[in-house]
Amino acid sequence: MKTVLLIITGGIAAYKGLDVIRGLKTRNIRVRTILTKGGAQFVTPLSIAALSGEKVYDDLWSLTDEQEMGHIRLARECDLVLIAPLSADFMAKAAHGLADDLASTCVLASDRPVLGVPAMNPVMWANPAVQDNLATLKARGWSFIGPESGEMACGENGTGRLSEPETIIEAVAQNLSLNQPLLGKTALVTSGPTVEAIDTVRVIANRSSGKQGHAIARALRDAGADVTLISGPVALPDPDGVTTIHVETAEEMLAASMDALPSDIAVFAAAVADWKPDPAPSKMKKSDGPPALSFTQNPDILYTIATLPEGQRPKRVVGFCVESENLIENATAKLNSKNCDIVLANVATSEGSPFGADDNHIMLVDQTGHTDWGPLSKSDVADKLTRKIVEMML
Ligand code: C5P
Repeated sequence: MKTVLLIITGGIAAYKGLDVIRGLKTRNIRVRTILTKGGAQFVTPLSIAALSGEKVYDDLWSLTDEQEMGHIRLARECDLVLIAPLSADFMAKAAHGLADDLASTCVLASDRPVLGVPAMNPVMWANPAVQDNLATLKARGWSFIGPESGEMACGENGTGRLSEPETIIEAVAQNLSLNQPLLGKTALVTSGPTVEAIDTVRVIANRSSGKQGHAIARALRDAGADVTLISGPVALPDPDGVTTIHVETAEEMLAASMDALPSDIAVFAAAVADWKPDPAPSKMKKSDGPPALSFTQNPDILYTIATLPEGQRPKRVVGFCVESENLIENATAKLNSKNCDIVLANVATSEGSPFGADDNHIMLVDQTGHTDWGPLSKSDVADKLTRKIVEMML
């Protein structure tokens, strides 16, 4: 996930910074904000924190901030420094290498690209002092957007208006070389195992770490999709920028998946328990000896969703399968019986099973045949699948 360090300096256009934060978040870009003293005269840290979902930094001398996130880390742990609005004062400071507050210190300590979006009164903008600073910063590699011409907040006409948030967001996306072909699309991903109760304390479950499903959720997110991840119990953190819903049983996973519809894309990477025991109402006594378990069939989530009528069925449905023999035949049968567009079949190798591992040997099966992807990391599998989905959506 890309991160932008946004610096909001003083100026009436600072309020547009809030729209910039919203737009960047919609594109799944993480936004950390530094608010200068001047900027804080126009927008509040509370609004920024609410929109960005991140703490707002404003004080170079805050011991707590330095303990949590030193200014050097703040300056470096980002892909781009965006200064919007960029005031004449801040341009002067940056051009002369001053470092008397958190924002200017971070700019000086950063080795990341800087994108400045100036906004000021037209006469100020035209002033040779400002133009000299602009030339200096450009010569040092800074990029600029705007300012635009038009009527200013102060009533004057001329060049000095902050570029529109949409223009800024586009420029940021370009600067980050963000390729987001799934922007505006929704995706549902199931991941991890399901867990079914035997009695009030015992369960049966499938072996699944959730690593592959979670990696797919992240890859679809990075491609711009709005992702809902429905996960059984796993030891993984919820991915940033993804709506994660936690479930335990297959029934719950089905209900959450249905709730996530309509969705353009659905990837079923969860290892769902095919059967559930009829649970005992209380803890079974060990002294009573091993119980005879009886099972009921669980719903098949993939089949249920992939066979929904057109309009309700996601446009692209991907299933997984783990087979111990006749991989291609079994995967092709599943492709057809479960009405999938793609089945990713796990090749069980002599080295062991894919469960919990970081790598996966995948065979892609679709109506045109099968392709061996060879052994790849689970994140490479996720990227390759995302590219395949994009190709199919075009
Ligand atoms: O039939 P099999 O369990 O091998 O199919 C595997 C595929 O079906 C996976 O994509 C898995 O997530 C999905 N599945 C499901 N609901 C089930 C069983 C499997 O969605 N009850």
